[in-house]
Amino acid sequence: MNLILLGPPGAGKGTQAKEIQVRHGLVQLSTGDMLRAAVKAGTEIGLKAKSIMEKGELVPDEVVIKIISDRIDEPDCQQGFILDGFPRTLPQAAALDQMLARKKKRLDAVIELKVDYNRLVERIVGRYTCATCGEGYHDRFKRPKVRQVCDVCGGTEFTRRADDNAETVTTRLMAYYRDTAPLTGYYYCKGTLRTVDGMAPIGDVAKEIEQHLAEARRDG
Ligand code: ADP
Ligand code: ADP
Ligand code: ZN
Repeated sequence: MNLILLGPPGAGKGTQAKEIQVRHGLVQLSTGDMLRAAVKAGTEIGLKAKSIMEKGELVPDEVVIKIISDRIDEPDCQQGFILDGFPRTLPQAAALDQMLARKKKRLDAVIELKVDYNRLVERIVGRYTCATCGEGYHDRFKRPKVRQVCDVCGGTEFTRRADDNAETVTTRLMAYYRDTAPLTGYYYCKGTLRTVDGMAPIGDVAKEIEQHLAEARRDG
């Protein structure tokens, strides 16, 4: 099964992608994670992307299209993948359609996570991750069971993203409403869009997604 998780920054795409990955054996493909890795490694792409990401703007379409196209060809993606943070513009969506057709793959569902603006800001500024395994946490909504110890790996170091601050949040959310929100119309017309209430607690969102995936399987 090949899926897209669509939604604004902070909607819970990464959180839900990790759950789906475990339950369905699909690979999470996060363009944000890939770009951050490129920045850290100091590659050519990373050097180009760094200042754009710090400002909260979008990296050029051709850069992310190439990254995803190459990644989808790798052996671990053949069982299926979850696109998290891609596509983010109409040209990216069109390029994805073309590359999937070329690679003889299909898109089974586009799951949209709907969350109100104010809640997104709250989620983004309170977000942090385990520096060892990448598990996501939140100051209020998802704390480790033992204070400052990762539930998954026992790690004790945590990091916050450079762009998860009150200043860039507005730019990132505006980029979403301007460039990415039109994708809901695009996928609605194709009949693949499935909308989930992303305001609900993490476990309830996961359950609603499961129902949609079961339906998508039946329909497909
Ligand atoms: P995205 O990948 O869409 O940017 P994340 O999955 O990183 O979003 O979630 C943003 C923040 O909100 C994280 O700190 C996460 O722990 C928290 N979070 C995710 N889903 C929920 C939810 N349903 N309710 C409350 N907090 C959530
Ligand atoms: P979030 O889900 O919180 O918005 P991501 O980790 O998905 O954050 O993305 C972080 C940043 O990486 C974005 O603000 C943007 O600069 C860049 N980025 C990630 N994916 C894309 C994409 N598909 N197209 C353009 N830029 C992207
Ligand atoms: Zn961890």
